[in-house]
Amino acid sequence: VILRPESVEQTQKCLRIANQCGTPLYPVSRGYNWGLGSKVPVETECSLLDLSRMNRILEFDDELGYLVVEPGVSFTQAAEFLQKHNAKHFLSVIGGPPDASIIGNLVDRGDGLGPLGNRAEHVCSLEVVLGSGEIVKTGFSRFPNSNVSHIHRLGVGPSLDGLFTQSSLGIVTKATIWLNPTPANFQAFFFCLKNLSQFGEVVPRIRELQQQHITLPSSSFLWSAVKAVAVLGQHPSPESGEFDVDEMLRRVSPGMAGAAWVGGGALYAASSRMAAEQRRLVKRALSNACFKLTFLDSRRYRLAKIANRIKMAFGGKPLVDPVVLDAMFAKPTYLGYPTRRSLRSLYWRKQIPVPEKIDPHQDRCGLLWVCHIVPYTSEAMTVAARAAEEIVLEYGFEPNVNFALMSERSSNMAVQIIWDRDRPDDDEQALACHRQLEDRLNDLGFTSSRLVINSMAALPDSDSATNTLYGSLKTLCDPNSILAPGRYLREDQCKI
Ligand SMILES: Cc1cc2nc3c(=O)[nH]c(=O)nc-3n(C[C@H](O)[C@H](O)[C@H](O)COP(=O)(O)OP(=O)(O)OC[C@H]3O[C@@H](n4cnc5c(N)ncnc54)[C@H](O)[C@@H]3O)c2cc1C
Repeated sequence: VILRPESVEQTQKCLRIANQCGTPLYPVSRGYNWGLGSKVPVETECSLLDLSRMNRILEFDDELGYLVVEPGVSFTQAAEFLQKHNAKHFLSVIGGPPDASIIGNLVDRGDGLGPLGNRAEHVCSLEVVLGSGEIVKTGFSRFPNSNVSHIHRLGVGPSLDGLFTQSSLGIVTKATIWLNPTPANFQAFFFCLKNLSQFGEVVPRIRELQQQHITLPSSSFLWSAVKAVAVLGQHPSPESGEFDVDEMLRRVSPGMAGAAWVGGGALYAASSRMAAEQRRLVKRALSNACFKLTFLDSRRYRLAKIANRIKMAFGGKPLVDPVVLDAMFAKPTYLGYPTRRSLRSLYWRKQIPVPEKIDPHQDRCGLLWVCHIVPYTSEAMTVAARAAEEIVLEYGFEPNVNFALMSERSSNMAVQIIWDRDRPDDDEQALACHRQLEDRLNDLGFTSSRLVINSMAALPDSDSATNTLYGSLKTLCDPNSILAPGRYLREDQCKI
């Protein structure tokens, strides 16, 4: 069965019944975990708990910058709410499905774009229904008369927040989500690299920009050229697998031809003078180490639009792809505008055109994510990228690789294995490729940070004292092991 409670009380009742029947219950908030398992539970013989009807925005503070939401609140709903209230703040949205849940993304430890993109670090006051049916609250919200529960994370005493993300200890039914202040001045920048060897020069320089707070956390990226083109177009010959990435890059912008990697990000400033200085510093750091270093601010955006119009009036192609222009500046994800654009990449290998209504399940689009943490050094990122390229190509897929530069120390590496589920044998090939790449990256010490349902058991072994603690916590919070068994806590890693 699929249970659809509309309140925390009904959620408790569902748990009570599940405990009585001994039938495990797997919660989903909106179920858009595409490429990681969607709504599919880790094990069979269970019920689903779909929390999408609990979709209220319960509080909004535009002075201190936070929202209090239920699990059914989507990124689009929150973004529209903030726009309607002419908010001074924006939410770090994901690059993925706009209808996904903010809490769903948080509890799976997803990442967003913009300074507070490292979501689990910028939330507090979780309300959680334990597997036993009891309700607990984290941070200061456990004190009924506290006035500071929405604005301080750890509270006083042992902090509990971390227990309820990537776990099967409780169901999160409410959370406070912190918002980014909207900057007075926004600019986007991007640049191209000819090959992976250029990481040696470029990575320390972009890290230095981040260490000096010229760029902010979660506000810059490095993408393989394949990722860049897969967001915009489809594989020209999925049958043979052969294609010319340059030809596709040229369509985005002629100057991008020859790129193997594309980097970029957002610059947030309090004034145009500050923005000009940021530009100067980024140019100084990067101009000798890359090509096509480009900035987009309101003036350059207007000029690019005019240039496109002139080119098209004379029958030519636009100078810069208008979709890219708008995505980078007019409604950028880096300022909290959710986008469906990246969902086009799900159809990269499909032989049908990308439909108006994206439905990867119905249309049998294959996608698996490989998510690992890699040190923010050129050496480590080069090794990880080479491993991804080598293994993915060996299995006949394309190296669609993203490094999201989340902090001054670490990058979130996400590889997308994309295939057409209508092609015989490709499901097996993709699963084998996924397994091998995950194992290789784990062996290299770049441990998995987010797991697909079928790779929960592939986590490396961990030490026994920690396993025992996990086991005790599971017994305490969920004595009948009714809640999402097998999710993130490998069975042998939570034994007492
Ligand atoms: C093209 C593309 C781009 C993407 N880009 C990004 C990106 O930029 N960043 C990113 O993080 N992800 C990205 N994703 C992956 C994914 O779509 C998102 O992470 C999305 O937020 C997950 O779906 P959801 O929010 O609806 O969560 P759900 O599917 O509802 O939840 C995810 C999992 O968390 C658990 N869970 C859900 N709700 C609860 C709860 N209330 N209590 C306890 N456990 C719960 C369940 O195990 C569930 O399976 C992308 C996907 C695609 C296809």
